[in-house]
Amino acid sequence: PKGAKCTRCKAQATIRLPHHHAIFCSECFLQFFRNAVAKALKKFGTTPRTPLLVAVSGGKDSLAMWNVLRDLGYETKGLHIDLGIEAGFSRASAEAIERFASPRNLPWVTYSLKETIGYSITDIRRKTRRKICSVCGFLKRQMLNRLTIREDYRALAVGHNLDDEAGRLLGNIVRHRTRYFEKQYPYLPSDHPRLPARLKPLYRLEADEIRIYCAETGIMPLDDRCPLSRGATSHMFKEALDFLEDRMPGTKRDFLFSFLKKREQPSLDPDIGSCTRCGEPCYGETCSVCRLLNQLRGEDPP
Ligand code: SF4
Ligand code: ZN
Repeated sequence: PKGAKCTRCKAQATIRLPHHHAIFCSECFLQFFRNAVAKALKKFGTTPRTPLLVAVSGGKDSLAMWNVLRDLGYETKGLHIDLGIEAGFSRASAEAIERFASPRNLPWVTYSLKETIGYSITDIRRKTRRKICSVCGFLKRQMLNRLTIREDYRALAVGHNLDDEAGRLLGNIVRHRTRYFEKQYPYLPSDHPRLPARLKPLYRLEADEIRIYCAETGIMPLDDRCPLSRGATSHMFKEALDFLEDRMPGTKRDFLFSFLKKREQPSLDPDIGSCTRCGEPCYGETCSVCRLLNQLRGEDPP
């Protein structure tokens, strides 16, 4: 809006954030954004001395997160998993990461799912009828944990934002998955030798704010959605919250934060054991990845 003045510095302002009752100039917006990340990290007890491996997909969230961590003085390295998704999606992801990391001199490693477990997401989709996003979800989770330990890091930063967290909470409430409430926290510490701590530095920031951040800092993330994301239920929960947010600005934020306020920081679950096949941390005897692999190889049917 023309003539509007920045809530912080009274300069010309154009970035309106209704749920914060604020309008910012570019500089104050960037400051606000960095502060939100710094506040999260402070809550987690991480400092720039904590070496962080950063999970990067090439999308807006992971690149924005990486950029702020770097600005805050963290020593980081990117970790990317090439899922082998068709339509050039995985190739474009790697290109977006390279475009970001190379001029900033940020190191990153990439591991291919196919080379690691023998199957790409495309292969798995051809061979099973399971919902691909749920399979992809647990594969990424285990691979990221495993590779973080292999890369000799103890903490992994992932780019989940406020919309992701609020959508996940709504999904768990709708399905009454109360046992998942315990795990829903932006920081999961770990002293397990095969499980890194997992932190979500962007959990206080909304998708729209992250989009603005990328535009203001000239970050060019991969802007396509994964071609397999259509019909993913997680998107529907986020859309439902957007509908409410539109009519009642601040709803998303209130919904997530009022839930988190009542929670204590979780500790490592004492029930966690190890998979009898691969040794990875899991509940029960066999981990989801080994069960999937059995099924793909046509061994004892699940
Ligand atoms: Fe994996 Fe689904 Fe995300 Fe695509 S949309 S990367 S298949 S979880
Ligand atoms: Zn296993």
